[in-house]
Amino acid sequence: MDITNFNELNISAPILRALAELGYESPTPIQQQAIPLALERKDIIGLAQTGTGKTCAFGLPLLEQIDVTSDKVQAVVVAPTRELAMQITNELRKYSQYMEGIRMLTIYGGESIEKQILALKKRPQIIVGTPGRIMDHMRRRTLRFQSVSMVVLDEADEMLNMGFKEDIDTILADIPEYKQMMMFSATFPAELMEIAKNYQVDPVTINVRSQNITSQNIRQCVIETVEANKAEIVSRILDGNSYRICLVFCNTKKRVDELAEYLHIHGYRVNSIHGDMKQKERDYVMNLFRKSQLDVLVATDVAARGIDVDHVDAVISYDVPEDEEYYVHRIGRCGRAGREGVSYLLANKRQRSRVAAIEKMTKVKMEEVPIPTATQIKERRVDILIEEILSDSLVVSGEMSECIDVLSQRSGMSLSEISEKLFALLLKKSFPEVSDSGISNFDVEPGYVRLYINLGNQHHASPASIIKCVAANTGVSGKHFGAIDISGHYSYFEIPEKFKDKVLGASGTFEAHSVHIEIAEEVQADWKFAAKKKGNKPSRRERKNEQEDKKSSKKSGKKEESKSSSRKSSARDSKGKSSEGRSSRNSNKQEGRRGRGRAR
Ligand code: AMP
Repeated sequence: MDITNFNELNISAPILRALAELGYESPTPIQQQAIPLALERKDIIGLAQTGTGKTCAFGLPLLEQIDVTSDKVQAVVVAPTRELAMQITNELRKYSQYMEGIRMLTIYGGESIEKQILALKKRPQIIVGTPGRIMDHMRRRTLRFQSVSMVVLDEADEMLNMGFKEDIDTILADIPEYKQMMMFSATFPAELMEIAKNYQVDPVTINVRSQNITSQNIRQCVIETVEANKAEIVSRILDGNSYRICLVFCNTKKRVDELAEYLHIHGYRVNSIHGDMKQKERDYVMNLFRKSQLDVLVATDVAARGIDVDHVDAVISYDVPEDEEYYVHRIGRCGRAGREGVSYLLANKRQRSRVAAIEKMTKVKMEEVPIPTATQIKERRVDILIEEILSDSLVVSGEMSECIDVLSQRSGMSLSEISEKLFALLLKKSFPEVSDSGISNFDVEPGYVRLYINLGNQHHASPASIIKCVAANTGVSGKHFGAIDISGHYSYFEIPEKFKDKVLGASGTFEAHSVHIEIAEEVQADWKFAAKKKGNKPSRRERKNEQEDKKSSKKSGKKEESKSSSRKSSARDSKGKSSEGRSSRNSNKQEGRRGRGRAR
């Protein structure tokens, strides 16, 4: 039976008061199951990841069992990173704010050991720390465990991944046998089983992962793309949506630095966090992030452990993570505490099997979404300007009405015409140009064109049947076909440019289904988005214009530029105009997007 109230969990009044003030209405599944068992001093293996409320699940029983009149260390919580250790202590402090006499200390590498030795002299009853620094204090005999009766290993699998197995063994071997031990982990590898066997007594396993490994509050999306477009796609995701804070994950430090640099140059308030940074730098960045003074934080997986910010709206996996578990951890940074979140995974065609492996593990099918289009970005920009015009902080002085009078007399324009012009000018001045030309989800062989056909798996189409169908209706021989990609209800195929017109004009049927063929880029860019909005397919003329643009940009050598992602984007943004536009706009980059009315 579900426990719907913390009152039913045998928790003392000061903690209940704190929980009520924090707005915790009912215990999460891991809390419902773990708290009663932990209060009975049972050993626990909790299979749960960040976002499930696991800290509170072990934190409340731990606090309840501390003898506040004693000045001995009674509980030790071991966590893989300093950030997670600090986050745990913060949570414990929140829950125990009305408990008299409770003292806790976080110890981690990167902070002066002398400072920690002094703090240990204040006799904390709870120690939260990273394995390396706990060991340091053990060696120096500044931390003794003879009175410890509770030990928690949080994100235990991550500690093993980080090579802390020996340290954990040393710590656990030093803690009295009668201790209660709780382990929380997203996975349960063999090494962890061994730890459980060696140090736990009849542990109870609580698994809150199986039904719902990733939160239902998170919309999980995948964007199929090629490497050269990734940075631009991140910027489009940021521009096309109203996310307050976005977290982007890369697989390596180098890629973190490169992407952060790209976003910085493009005017975002961005910072990065990775293992090569000094603790002070990391603290500085985390502080900016916490205070919402960044639009986007770019991070490696390990450095992002323990990021305790609840208001992350979107997580972007710039790289497909090497381990499926990482994906779960990444997206768990948003959609926390009942909020909505969205995750984007950028993957190329060859990574489809990796995406499928992630989906298999999370039991969630990712939604394939298109690259945010110029239309979407422009709509968002209009919203931004409207918000700013309506904002109370915009003070209009009396001279403005004189200006409008002069403008109206000189031009003979009506007020509404003037407003339209001013709005257009404001848009132009505030944001760089954006167009869909040159950005697509795929790389096409030189000399080939990629086409869309409305036949897919749903119609039992195979590469052979697509070739047969197109060849029969156009006379283009099967030997000319390039790559063929089959999706649910449509496919893409490549043919040499010289056959394009012949194939585009063709029509026919495939097993009674009437077939049509279009240029794939347009489908990817505008049409798909417009269709999603139940809207209008762009007119033939608009599409034709766009095609002309593409052709002329190809002719003028733009294609050559597309080899480098940053060069590609500047060529693309300027759409045939000078790329200086963007650099001059970016002279203000220190202020960031929001500093400039969120204009880039
Ligand atoms: P955790 O899984 O421990 O990282 O917790 C995820 C977030 O959920 C933290 O911000 C907690 O403060 C919050 N949280 C934990 N338990 C509850 C609860 N019962 N109700 C609402 N929020 C909670």
